[in-house]
Order: sequence, then structure tokens, then C-alpha cells
Amino acid sequence: MFDHLIQNVQILDGSSAPAFSGSVALAGGTIAAVGHISAPAAHTVDGGGRYLAPGFIDIHRHADAALLSPGFGQAELAQGLTTIINGNCGVSLVPVDGPHQAAVLDYLAPITGRCDRVFPTLGDYRAAAGALPLHAGMLVGMGTLRACAAGFRDGALTEEECRAIHAALERALADGALGVSLGLGYAPECFYTTEQLLQVLAPLRRSGRVITVHMRQEGDGVTEALEEMLAVARALETPVEISHLKAIGKRNWRRAVPEMLARIAQAREEGLDVMCDVYPYPAGSTQLIHVLPPEFQAGGLSALTAALRDPEDRARMRRRMETGTDFENIVLLAGFENILAASLRRPENVPFEGCSIAAIAAAQGKDPYDALFDLLAAEDCGPSMIDFIADEADIEAILRAPFSGVISDATYPAGLPHPRVYGAFPRLLETYVRQRGVLALPEAVHKITRQPADRFGLTKKGRIQPGADADLCLFGLERVRERGTWSQPDQLAEGMDWVFTAGVPVVQEGQSTGLRPGRVL
Ligand SMILES: [Zn+2]
Repeated sequence: MFDHLIQNVQILDGSSAPAFSGSVALAGGTIAAVGHISAPAAHTVDGGGRYLAPGFIDIHRHADAALLSPGFGQAELAQGLTTIINGNCGVSLVPVDGPHQAAVLDYLAPITGRCDRVFPTLGDYRAAAGALPLHAGMLVGMGTLRACAAGFRDGALTEEECRAIHAALERALADGALGVSLGLGYAPECFYTTEQLLQVLAPLRRSGRVITVHMRQEGDGVTEALEEMLAVARALETPVEISHLKAIGKRNWRRAVPEMLARIAQAREEGLDVMCDVYPYPAGSTQLIHVLPPEFQAGGLSALTAALRDPEDRARMRRRMETGTDFENIVLLAGFENILAASLRRPENVPFEGCSIAAIAAAQGKDPYDALFDLLAAEDCGPSMIDFIADEADIEAILRAPFSGVISDATYPAGLPHPRVYGAFPRLLETYVRQRGVLALPEAVHKITRQPADRFGLTKKGRIQPGADADLCLFGLERVRERGTWSQPDQLAEGMDWVFTAGVPVVQEGQSTGLRPGRVL
């Protein structure tokens, strides 16, 4: 006797093969049978001809802190997600320990959400997370490891600091971290030279562990940044995943992305295991301080706040931002009108939540650089931003590449979130499959199921076949809908009628059941 029998469905097995009709039986948290099944089950679901796919997998979220809050998972389940991977962009909440821990938590807050607890090991974190409505994997953030070992200062690490990072890295991998993430666009990892980076990553050589990377630059220097990562992949002989591939700034649109896709294809032909992923939106979201020249972050957020109050430092920052191309100069590339401020806490600033820096400057009768510097200084560098930086044609080109995956890059700031937190996966199906036909449905499903599962060695996930984990979602393609907008992002998506995590229904007829069969992997 099976636990569940899901009958009369179009099965997308995750392989990118066309859907086929049949039934799927679940028993003891695994898929027991696929095809035409006559044996009885305790519960039967009539699929009514809808699609049954493996539960979706988001390998790039920043829910490190968010998943510890009691109601976590509604936004994720409504999109059909049954597995997420946190700890991306070098900025993982785990493992955090030592004298710099408070500075690390402050730095992470606009990305992962505020957390006032520290987790020295993945085991501590796993115990605190307990039972979840979906599964969560963790990457070790190399920026977190560096900040814990050496703070936010620039320059080379001492041998002792490097040894401490190696030890922490090896411990986290032994503890069950699924891979390693880099945030070369962020302090303090932006202070590594390529040679120093290779030194700190030395334990990963030939390990088969995936390194995901938020590259050093995504603007004018993005192709050079990609070349750096291809050199890292070649030197370490381990898989590399280029996170949220894009080209920031109109002058780079439709030029840099095709060039980078060709470079990745060529590198793969040479035998490098390099892939990339993309979030299906023209805007990103991260810390607002990310628009500043990185060298001013060398003393951490308190030193940066002091610099933002100092007339000479402000003048230097401004000069760098007016013309600099050697850092991710988002103001120059996208313009103040395309950078929205969020997570504002002071009462006089709260009315500007979701407004562009250009609009805030106009309202305050200030020059936009002054408005930006004043806002950051008043808010102790804590704000987040939503920045419109990427091009739709570039997004479509990346989606079409056979070596690309799809991610949300969902961040969990205290203020206005990006709609991708609630809608990245329905948006893929609604906009890029159904409306624009950029991808066929089986191919889109493959990119968010079997492909990411195999990438991270989760070989029982992301497929519908006997013996695989019973993580599944049931939906009618014509009813899948993203409901969040830029001004009202926090709307649950529609269209996921049933979601199973580990064989347990966590969404039933479109309603959350409140059951928690998931865990930190
Ligand atoms: Zn990132």
C-alpha cells in the first residue's frame, strides 16, 4: 500500500524530455512507482491532467537568517520550491565565530536578514533551524570566513589567518556544507588578488566541490572578471558556477553577455566544468553601500560611516564614482534614477522607502551624491537597494544557453524586498515559457530541478523516478502566476496546487498544510 497515489498527470521527470501521462506513487518519503499503477494507496490525488514535476530547486537564495523565523517557507512553497541553497555570494551566516562576529552580522543584515545569534558550526545552525516546510542546503561563504579571521581590512592575509580560513573551510565541508561561495564584489573578498584567492581556496583543488561566485565586477570589467574565474577553475580543477550572470549598464548590454556565453562554451569544450545562472528580472538587490568604491570599506561599516561624514572622503568617493571603471560603478552605469533605497529605519527617511536616489535628492533639494552619502551615514550603512541594471535580451540569451540555470538570488532585508523572493520561479514559467516562448516547459523545468540537483550532488532530488526523493509539485501551466510587483512585492504566487516535501503534502489544493518534513541538509 502506497502513502499517496497521484493519478492522471503529465509527468515532467526533470530530464528535459517531453511530458508523458501516467501516475506517481509515493511511499516512505520516496517515489515508489512511476507509470500506470493499479496498487492501492492511503491517499489519492486526481491530477486532472495537470503537470507533475520534481519540486523546484533554488541554488541561490540568501534565506540564511530568514529560515529561522517561525513562518518561513510560504513564499517558497507557493513557487513550488522544495529545496533551496543558502550561503551564497561569500556572505553565509554560518560558520561565524570570533572577535569580528558583530561586524559580520551587521554586514550580512541587508542581504540575509538581521540575525543576532551566531552559529560557530553548521551543526549548531541545523539544530536551531529544526524542522522546515522544505529542505535547505548551505554553502560556506569565503567572505564570512575571511571576515571572521581578519575583519574587513584590506591587504594580504598573514599565514596564520590563511591557516585559520583553511581549517574553518574544511570543518564546514566535513559538517555537510554543499559547496563554497565567493563574493569578490564585496568586502573583504574584493581585497584578494587572484593569486591570494587561489591560495585561500587551495584545499578545494580537485575536490569536486562547487565554487559559486559573485564575480569581482558585473559592469565594465565583467568579461575580465569571468576570465579570472576561468583561470581559477583551471588552476583548482573543480566545478565553478558563475552566479547571476549579467552585464550592468546600457553601454555593456547585448555585448558583454554574448561574449561571456561564448567564452563559457569554449571553456567547457576545453574541459572546464563551468556553468552559470541568471535571475529572471532586470533589477537586482543588495546592500546600498555596494554602489561605493570598495576601498572605502576596508575598515568595516563603522569606518565607512565615518568616511561618509568626512568632507574630504566624500569628495574622494565622489570623484571615483563620477568616472571610475575599475570597480562596479553602478551609479555611473545605471544612474541615480535606477537605484531605489530600501530598509530605511530613521523616521525622517522612512517616507523614502522604495524611492530612487534621484527622487530623494530632488525632494531634499540636494545634489544626488550628497543625498546618497547623507542617507547612508544617517542609517549607519544599513540600507538595501533595488537597482535596475540588466537587459531583458541579455536575460533571454542566458536562459537559452544549455549550461545556464535559473535562480532567485532572493535577499531578505528588513524593508522593501525584491519581487523575486515571491515570484522568480512562477515568473520563469509564466513570462519566459508561456508568454514569450524563450524556453520549452521541459527545458525550463530541467534547469530548476535535475540540473541544479546534479550540480550539487543531490542525486536523489530533481527527478521523478523510482527511488528518488518524493519532492514534487503539481500545477497547471496556464494558471501559474507571479503576483508581486515592484511596489507591492510581498504577494504569494499562484498556481502551485500541490507540493510534496519528502512525500508529505506541504501545499494541498493551493493551501499550505503547515507540515514541516524538511530540514537543513
Ligand atoms: Zn550575489
